[in-house]
Amino acid sequence: MQFFLDLVSFLWVIRLVYAQRVIDIHVHIQPWQMLKPEVLALWKRYYPDFDHLLTLAKDPKAFLKFMDNEGLERAALVNYVSPDVMGFTSGVNEFVSKYCQVAPDRLIPVGSLHPQHLTNPEAQMTHLIEELGIKIIKIHPPHQLFYPNDYINQIEALAIIYEQAQKHGIPVMFHTGTSIFPAARVKYGDPLCLDDVAIDFPRLKIILAHGGRPLWMNTSFFLLRRHSNVFLDISGIPPQNLLTYFPRLEEIAHKTMFGSDWPGPGIKSIRANIESFLGLPLSPQVQRAILFDTAAKLLEVP
Ligand SMILES: [Zn+2]
Repeated sequence: MQFFLDLVSFLWVIRLVYAQRVIDIHVHIQPWQMLKPEVLALWKRYYPDFDHLLTLAKDPKAFLKFMDNEGLERAALVNYVSPDVMGFTSGVNEFVSKYCQVAPDRLIPVGSLHPQHLTNPEAQMTHLIEELGIKIIKIHPPHQLFYPNDYINQIEALAIIYEQAQKHGIPVMFHTGTSIFPAARVKYGDPLCLDDVAIDFPRLKIILAHGGRPLWMNTSFFLLRRHSNVFLDISGIPPQNLLTYFPRLEEIAHKTMFGSDWPGPGIKSIRANIESFLGLPLSPQVQRAILFDTAAKLLEVP
């Protein structure tokens, strides 16, 4: 029996390595010890084997092995600063930078600044990009408590973050849609505010994480079609429901990226999500674009 299971597992990896390369643009490997007690309690409720997450966060090599089993070639490790809602300090940037140095060909560091906790945003962006090697900036409005377009309402540091990201060709990933963590404010998750950002920063690569799930899918689809600089990350959307939420997915496949949001609440397995995605009635070209090509192009992966 064990031999059979190993064989199935082996064949799965072979199939992915040779048939389909996969980039997961949205995985959370984070310094869990920073979490506020009430956030940690919620996370443990959804992910009872929390020790597994602690082990992976301490040991990048164990995580690489985990990626092999899940069928991932590369993973973007999403980290962001959210002292008030989640407990994450700016130390997340050093954490993810160091972690990804173990395998820069497979691990993509995603870091963050909080525009309301900065003294010199330009210098801090330079530090993130040039010294820490951060490849994507994450902005989490419901956990950072501002709108993405609040640079027009006195949060000037936000404009500097976008300008610097644009200048360096670094994409900015925005959480869009709901969040269930206790102190999150869902109103900030409305992607419509990104219409301003896409217009005011026309060369900024904007990633809509979760596609406005589940309240604002239509807004997200509109923005994807309207703006050439807006991209979609399907993480957090159950793959079996993807075509219900985005029935015209094929039209935006060249701007769409696979992501899992693992181990976020309710996300059980990356591999199961890939299998479920591959079971959708989509052409092989569209599958390839979403599982690999779009992200590879955006991040200039060879
Ligand atoms: Zn996430």
